[in-house]
Amino acid sequence: MTAFICVTCGTQYSESETPPARCPICEDERQYIGPNGQQWTHMTRLQADHHNVIKPLEPGLTGIGTHPSFAIGQRALLVQTDAGNVLWDCISLLDDPTTAAVKALGGIDAIAISHPHYYAAMIDWAHAFDAPIYLHACERKWVLRPDDAVQFWEGEERELFGGLHLLRLGGHYGGGQVLHWPAGANGKGALLSGDIVQVVADKRYVSFMYSYPNLIPLPAAIVERIAAKLDPVSFDRIYGAWWERMIDRDGHAAVQRSATRYVRALNGEVGSLPDQLAATSRA
Ligand SMILES: [Zn+2]
Ligand SMILES: [Zn+2]
Repeated sequence: MTAFICVTCGTQYSESETPPARCPICEDERQYIGPNGQQWTHMTRLQADHHNVIKPLEPGLTGIGTHPSFAIGQRALLVQTDAGNVLWDCISLLDDPTTAAVKALGGIDAIAISHPHYYAAMIDWAHAFDAPIYLHACERKWVLRPDDAVQFWEGEERELFGGLHLLRLGGHYGGGQVLHWPAGANGKGALLSGDIVQVVADKRYVSFMYSYPNLIPLPAAIVERIAAKLDPVSFDRIYGAWWERMIDRDGHAAVQRSATRYVRALNGEVGSLPDQLAATSRA
C-alpha cells in the first residue's frame, strides 16, 4: 500500500494499492491538471531525487522548502516560541535529514496550514512529530488523507500558544487562514499568509485571488472583508508562500492600500482604465 502524492499539487492521499483515479484539488477551478495528464509519485521516490533546504529567516523563524522545486513549490515555515513550535503550511517531502534538523530546532507542537493547496504530506509530518494539525472546518472536504491528527476549528479566530493565533480570512478558499506571530519582525509582528494574502512583485502591494494559476479574481466585498479583518491586527512583515515572497516592512499599510486599489480596479478607476472605459462607451 502506498500513500500516493499528486505531482501537480503535491497532495498526499490515503494509502491504496494503485494511484487514485483523479485529484479533486487539481480538477477544481483553482488548480489545473498538469500538461501530461494526472501524474502520481510517492514519498520514497520523492526522497530519492529531492531534498529539503532549511534556512533561518529571522530569530525564531526557519524556512523549509524542497529542492529542486516540487508541485506548487511553496516552502513551509517553522515558528519557535517559548511555549512550543508551529509548522506553518506544509510540503510534500519529509526525509530523515529534515526530521533531524527540525528536532534540533525543538520539533513541532502544532501544524497549521493556510489552505488545501499546502496540505501536502501533512499527515506524515504530524505523525513524525506527534503534532495536531489545525485546519479550518470549511475545508474538511479537501482533506484527502483523513487522520485523527487533523483538528478542525470553526469561527473567525483560533488561539494556539506563545501568542500565535490563526485568523480565518477566506477569499482564495472560504476557510483560508493566516497565522499572526506578534513576536516576529523584532516585536513589530509578522503575518504568515500562504497565498491567502499574496505577496507580489511590487513589495508595496499584495493581492487576493480566487485562483492564482488561472487568474480568477475575487469580488470586491470579499477583498474588503479580508482588509477589514486585518485592519486591527498589528504586523509589519508578511511572509508569503515562497522564499522570495516577503514584505520586509510596512506590511499592514500594504494590505490596506492593496485592497483599496483592487476594488478601484474592479470598478475601472485605476491607471488607464477610466480612459478605456470611456472609449468603450463611445464605440
Ligand atoms: Zn493534485
Ligand atoms: Zn493556493
